[in-house]
Amino acid sequence: MSATLIHPTETGLTVKNCIDGEWVGSDRTFQSLNPANRDHVVATVPQTSKEQVEAAVAAARRAFSSWRELSWVKRAEYIDNLSQLIKRDLEQLSRLVTIECGKPINEGRADVVEALHMAQYMAGHGRLPYGQVISSEIAAKDAYIIRKPKGVVGIITPWNFPFAIPLWGILPAVLGGNTVVFKPSEETPVMGHKLAELFEEAGFPAGVINTVHGNGEETGAAMTGSEGVDVIVFTGSRAVGSLIKRTAVAGETHKFVATELGGKNAVMVLEDADLDIAVNAGVLSAFKTSGQRCVSSNRIIVDKKVIDAYTERFVEKVKRIKVGDGLEEDTFMGPLISQEGVAKWHHHNRMAVEEGGEVLVEGHEVTDGPLARGNFVTPFVYRFRDYKENTFCLREEAFSPHTCIIGCDGMEDAVRIYNDTDYGLAMAVITEDYRKWRWVRDHADYGLGYVNLPSIGAEVHLPFGGVKASGNGHPAAETALDYLTHRVAFTVNHAREIVMAQGLTTL
Ligand code: NAD
Repeated sequence: MSATLIHPTETGLTVKNCIDGEWVGSDRTFQSLNPANRDHVVATVPQTSKEQVEAAVAAARRAFSSWRELSWVKRAEYIDNLSQLIKRDLEQLSRLVTIECGKPINEGRADVVEALHMAQYMAGHGRLPYGQVISSEIAAKDAYIIRKPKGVVGIITPWNFPFAIPLWGILPAVLGGNTVVFKPSEETPVMGHKLAELFEEAGFPAGVINTVHGNGEETGAAMTGSEGVDVIVFTGSRAVGSLIKRTAVAGETHKFVATELGGKNAVMVLEDADLDIAVNAGVLSAFKTSGQRCVSSNRIIVDKKVIDAYTERFVEKVKRIKVGDGLEEDTFMGPLISQEGVAKWHHHNRMAVEEGGEVLVEGHEVTDGPLARGNFVTPFVYRFRDYKENTFCLREEAFSPHTCIIGCDGMEDAVRIYNDTDYGLAMAVITEDYRKWRWVRDHADYGLGYVNLPSIGAEVHLPFGGVKASGNGHPAAETALDYLTHRVAFTVNHAREIVMAQGLTTL
């Protein structure tokens, strides 16, 4: 394990809200700390009040009428400007992602590259059809389906992809003619602020994208409770997502909430698997981003015929993982985001032991040396040779480097175990048999499925989201336009008389 810490020069940055094109602070502030070194204050950030949120919503409402007037192509041009700015600043932005959320620098870069891809994809989308022409029952009528904007969209995002995830929602929203109030995670406000600066530089008119900072209880709740917000796009934990689902929609029939939540994902290793691929896929799925991806796998379900060989090779590889400062290029696992994240990791490890797991790699919190002031922990690996039902450790999301090797008896048993959680986000199956992966494809519950790959590795031109408790079926990225616009029916009569469908008579 590395014992060095690079001291970043980015310190004491000031973050502001951007409301109606004005950069404004707030009476109250909080600090964004570097998770690799809690003594390093990256930025001071406004804690936005309910009144300021309402001002942002009102600004978005005022900007809506002129923004929706623009053509899709024109709106896409602003997004194209943004993509060029992201490309220009790629290295600086990547470094900031690593400093503020701890991900190793290759992952910081991947976050910014994914944001760039989303901007490029949405810019191109502006020149695609935004409706359909459909035959009417009456020859002289033309019927159309046209996408129209819904109004003001509130976007609430998590910390773990602080640059890419906001754009999964914001860009389809503004391309479709909506205006936006965006609340970044309070853990990563600097990246939210950087996005806001780039929106301004890209030329988006005042009020089209407003950014407000703050915690969930006050700022987030003010957004979801605002009558002026038509759609909420929420990405985060199951607990907060279900709270928002209950409170934001209550009593308001027009309001729509899209939720992208957590997962209890798995890699399934079948008896015929290529073990090199299986071990690699397991390690990447469990420990990339220190297990803090919604698609991270806390479960590696392995056929009992190969479980011993698999375990030996997996554990050997895990022991070689380098934990350290994300700014060092060869670091594999950076710190957890916060002390709460460390406490959650301890809790899941304790539960695994209490519930009967056989500990194979006893992770520890780094409490001395140069990394001691960061939120560093090392991987925790345990095993259940026989699956145990109704456990906490095998069913609840750990969102940390905590994973279990679980024995199974064949493919159908693997899928039975995989499906035995409330979640349904991501799964990978490792097999050389095309009949087996096809069966798994059709019987497992997931939104993102992979064969001979890890359970991580999404691309923006595919839908991103889950089923069951992982989301309400409105995936982000590619498919977000579907729920960020209304598809309206529009029919035009070209005859000099009125002829009705279904044989209705006229006077
Ligand atoms: P979180 O739920 O704690 O916070 C997410 C956002 O919700 C933050 O901006 C927070 O301020 C806000 N929030 C908190 N309470 C709120 C409230 N009462 N009202 C309104 N907003 C509120 O999640 P997190 O710790 O930032 O992220 C980790 C979680 O996100 C994990 O469960 C992970 O699986 C999930 N996640 C899901 C996806 C996906 O696309 N499915 C992607 C990334 C992360």
